[in-house]
Amino acid sequence: KLSKKEQEEAVRRANALEKDDLNSLRKVSRQEYLKKREQKKLDELRDEIEDEQYLFGGEKLTETELREFRYKKELYDLVKKRTQDEDDVEEYRIPDAYDQDGGVDQEKRFSVAVQRYKDLDSTEKMNPFAEQEAWEDHQIGKATLKFGAKNKKASDDYQFVFEDQINFIKESVMAGENYEDDMDAKQKSQDLAEKTALEELQEVRRSLPIYAYREQLLKAVEEHQVLVIVGDTGSGKTTQIPQYLHEAGYTKRGKVGCTQPRRVAAMSVAARVAQEMGVKLGHEVGYSIRFEDCTSDKTVLKYMTDGMLLRELLGEPDLASYSVVIVDEAHERTLSTDILFGLVKDIARFRPDLKLLISSATMDAEKFSDYFDTAPIFSFPGRRYPVEINYTSAPEADYMDAAIVTILTIHVREPLGDILVFFTGQEEIESAEEILKHRIRGLGTKIRELIICPIYANLPSELQAKIFEPTPEGARKVVLATNIAETSLTIDGIKYVVDPGFSKMKSYNPRTGMESLLITPISKASATQRAGRAGRTSAGKCYRLYTAFNYNNDLEENTVPEVQRTNLASVVLALKSLGIHDLINFDFMDPPPAEALVKALELLFALGALNKLGELTKAGRRMAEFPLDPMLSKMIVVSDKYKCSDEIISIAAMLSIGGSIFYRPKDKQVHADNARMNFHTGNVGDHIALLKVYSSWKETNYSTQWCYENYIQVRSMKRARDIRDQLEGLLERVEIEISSNLNELDSVRKSIVAGFFPHTAKLQKNGSYRTVKHPQTVHIHPNSGLAQVLPRWVVYHELVLTSKEYMRQVTELKPEWLIELAPHYYQHKD
Ligand code: ADP
Ligand code: MG
Repeated sequence: KLSKKEQEEAVRRANALEKDDLNSLRKVSRQEYLKKREQKKLDELRDEIEDEQYLFGGEKLTETELREFRYKKELYDLVKKRTQDEDDVEEYRIPDAYDQDGGVDQEKRFSVAVQRYKDLDSTEKMNPFAEQEAWEDHQIGKATLKFGAKNKKASDDYQFVFEDQINFIKESVMAGENYEDDMDAKQKSQDLAEKTALEELQEVRRSLPIYAYREQLLKAVEEHQVLVIVGDTGSGKTTQIPQYLHEAGYTKRGKVGCTQPRRVAAMSVAARVAQEMGVKLGHEVGYSIRFEDCTSDKTVLKYMTDGMLLRELLGEPDLASYSVVIVDEAHERTLSTDILFGLVKDIARFRPDLKLLISSATMDAEKFSDYFDTAPIFSFPGRRYPVEINYTSAPEADYMDAAIVTILTIHVREPLGDILVFFTGQEEIESAEEILKHRIRGLGTKIRELIICPIYANLPSELQAKIFEPTPEGARKVVLATNIAETSLTIDGIKYVVDPGFSKMKSYNPRTGMESLLITPISKASATQRAGRAGRTSAGKCYRLYTAFNYNNDLEENTVPEVQRTNLASVVLALKSLGIHDLINFDFMDPPPAEALVKALELLFALGALNKLGELTKAGRRMAEFPLDPMLSKMIVVSDKYKCSDEIISIAAMLSIGGSIFYRPKDKQVHADNARMNFHTGNVGDHIALLKVYSSWKETNYSTQWCYENYIQVRSMKRARDIRDQLEGLLERVEIEISSNLNELDSVRKSIVAGFFPHTAKLQKNGSYRTVKHPQTVHIHPNSGLAQVLPRWVVYHELVLTSKEYMRQVTELKPEWLIELAPHYYQHKD
């Protein structure tokens, strides 16, 4: 007879076995699935060739020949498509405004932006970049002195006169639906105050517009495999539908997954739903975002970024562990969402038991329905109050200034109710916060309390929760948000919206392969969404910081889907590793420019991820394991050869943290700059400096104190450490040993160049740089340790457009490395 301990051990072993078995079964089924799909596609191709009587002498092609033919045909089709497009890139609406040597092409889609920025005298007026520019000018002054460049006089003396009024013209009123008296809502919220927290939450759940349609919705889901759901923002789609499905038993046969385009939304909504269900976040309700998995074996409702579901598909191509997949915020049309569309549509055909819900805030419902084989549309009315739309009477040269003045004017003049302001990013929000605080201090006790709440992707989650806290009696809250508050997050109690009319967008020029972030006018659809945020709990007002003429003439109807304005290399790599080879026939809702696909294939070939047949190589398969841009992944994979993977993953982790590493308090700028320059001793380049920051921190046993002393953001470092740990785990998975080669920094540099050789530039006589492959003028970012060194040849991590096109994170290289490390790319002179 077995002892108790032995029994336990036996049970444990049996369980472990089962888990392993399950895993290997899953692996087999995945391989079979891929094999079947590949076979099907090849058969289709064979049919096609026979149909069209291609000239192969009537002989049957071998499988390799068939594959080779397929790839050549694909390239041929792409190139053919490209030549046709050559004269008409506009058809795909690629913002190639930066074609002419960094100059803005005024005729194109940027007329509003140009109008506002052109006349801007940045030395006197506050603008979102003023501080950045002043600092840049200062640094550039130092950097280019030897070329005799004039140093522009900069002033960071922001003068605000409260009397600067902005003239708004009331233009129209956006009609509401189900208009309810304001008092009713107040009464309701008072009643609520007396209940317990959980009861109260249940009450709130029942008060959401979607609640009235719960049964109808569940019935529709039961009857149809694919359903398009349309309902106003804030009506409860994201938080309620997964709970309804759980209550109806769908989670008994698999998870309910719900994708979000944004990290913050996935985290915040999961937290809310866990609260509503009275469970701990990460247990029954969890979220998964890149480098952060907050789920467990218990998790049945899983919120995740669309990019994460895409990665999950690599391990589970049929999404077997899910019973329902909700592609939420579909109208955002992010790159990952668009790719998911094609993949889940395909999976739904293989898996009749999988339910697929496509949920969107607005409009394009028919387009979604058409795409998903005329899936039925379930649309329900929201609760909308009228919103008064105001425009400025004349264009505002500086939206930051105009926004601040408008916020303060509302605060002083208008009845209580919270304000929501849209900015383009963290830096803008931080400077707005600072200016607002400063000005409120100036006004002293003459005005009511104004609570400032910022919200953007890199804000720590404790602070994110703050925006949802109810505003205290007699006070007003102003939420300074990025696009995240446009549809992903709903903040109750907003009565005023201030809309400067811009957002930060990725733009990609497929001809040069250059990608950069730029501040772009929003679309009319976005403007409508933003305004709508003012009318959720009562009638509201929206202040647009542009003219009605601008709105009518300069704004596009809809935002261009990301797939048409981005670098596709990582997506192509992911698709290839999913066994999808025929990119040109991939079921895109809106196809990307053929040129961009060709560029992606070229890049992956140059990186050694694809072979001549367009198939994944061993290196490519390894690269696909990393949730990183292919160039970063390549850098890591190559580090194996140079025996410096230890250093390289630290660098990759440091490059992957969003947000900045160093900070510069206003009163201690000199100290901060000195601390920063310490890491650059010997002009080692920015990548090595990042490595030094990381290893020094590690040597202090990850000390917080050390971060303070060196003006380094503790939070960023902790994130880097997290990311690094995960990269280390992935190294093991692709069988790369951790090895360190600190004495041979050139090995580290070579690994960097092996990944980033398309990002190289050569110094010009005037102190600027020209990119090597597709000549364009760029500059070393003033924050770089090499800004004053100006090496002849450099490799850079990314291009960022502020006042100029800047290379950020720069390292010196030897030109002969390019021939050695990237022969396909650099052997011929263009
Ligand atoms: P939709 O997806 O239709 O836009 P949501 O499900 O996101 O709507 O929002 C429904 C309600 O839940 C809104 O009133 C919103 O304010 C509230 N809500 C969502 N997330 C949170 C949160 N983290 N904290 C408090 N309330 C939240
Ligand atoms: Mg939502």
